[in-house]
Amino acid sequence: ELTYFNGEFVEPGAKVISIDDRGYLFGDSVYEVVRVVKGRCFALSYHQDRLYRSMREMDIPVKMTPDDLTELHEILIEQSEIKEGYIYLQISRGVAPRHHAYDRSKLEPQMLMSIRNLDMDAVNKLGEGVKAIALPDERWDHVDVKTTNLIPNILAQTKAEKKFAYTAMLFRDGVCTEGATSNVFAVKDGILYTHPADNHILKGITRQMILTRVAPSLGITLIEKEFDRAFVDDADELFFTDTIGGVIPITKLDRNPVSGGKPGAITLRLREALEKLMEEGLP
Ligand code: PLP
Repeated sequence: ELTYFNGEFVEPGAKVISIDDRGYLFGDSVYEVVRVVKGRCFALSYHQDRLYRSMREMDIPVKMTPDDLTELHEILIEQSEIKEGYIYLQISRGVAPRHHAYDRSKLEPQMLMSIRNLDMDAVNKLGEGVKAIALPDERWDHVDVKTTNLIPNILAQTKAEKKFAYTAMLFRDGVCTEGATSNVFAVKDGILYTHPADNHILKGITRQMILTRVAPSLGITLIEKEFDRAFVDDADELFFTDTIGGVIPITKLDRNPVSGGKPGAITLRLREALEKLMEEGLP
């Protein structure tokens, strides 16, 4: 584990964040999580594009070029010698006496990065399938921006884990949006379905990989459209996607077995093809 804060390496767990940091006080920050595979960042340019968009949307000034950011990721990997892990990056709006409104001219964004090892046995075990529970999506209308304002997500995730589920599948006005920390896909009659990338889901990088590279490479048709609980219950296969777990087969939703209680065949093909792409690497 290695941690970097505002230009220098600090001890893991070091007390460097001001109590007046707006990230701490208001969750007024944006973040990214990038997978490190074989000692290289996977799809870093995609994560950077999303980070810069989040900063634009939240009106947080950008002080770093993509090249500087890439170099920092590389330094963290080199210094930690981590081969299989992930890098967490968070940029808060800055430090100021507590007041809801912010004055952009008086704030200096604060950047935190840390690299950690991943338990690859746990990641591989996800391929065996997970249980999920359905919960209402109680989040705001801009969850397409990756902010650390995650209260509804953490409450949903905690409810799920208390019921021994891996995570929660969220429904907004009857429509399946995404998971508490992942995107959701359904397979019906050989066709893949996922929620359109609008303001009601986070446009996951893994989702983008499935949409633009993995599904096309396997000749699988993918349709972005809204679907409801009845469609989910009728699906042949269901899975989550995220940076850490890749394609995560769902084998049980609430009390109902999915695809006979085993990972679906198309889901497993997608999981394998994504793993291959991750090992080959992508800038
Ligand atoms: N949706 C939510 C709410 C998330 O928190 C995440 C990631 O953690 C995702 C989707 C998946 O995004 P990605 O594939 O970029 O990790």
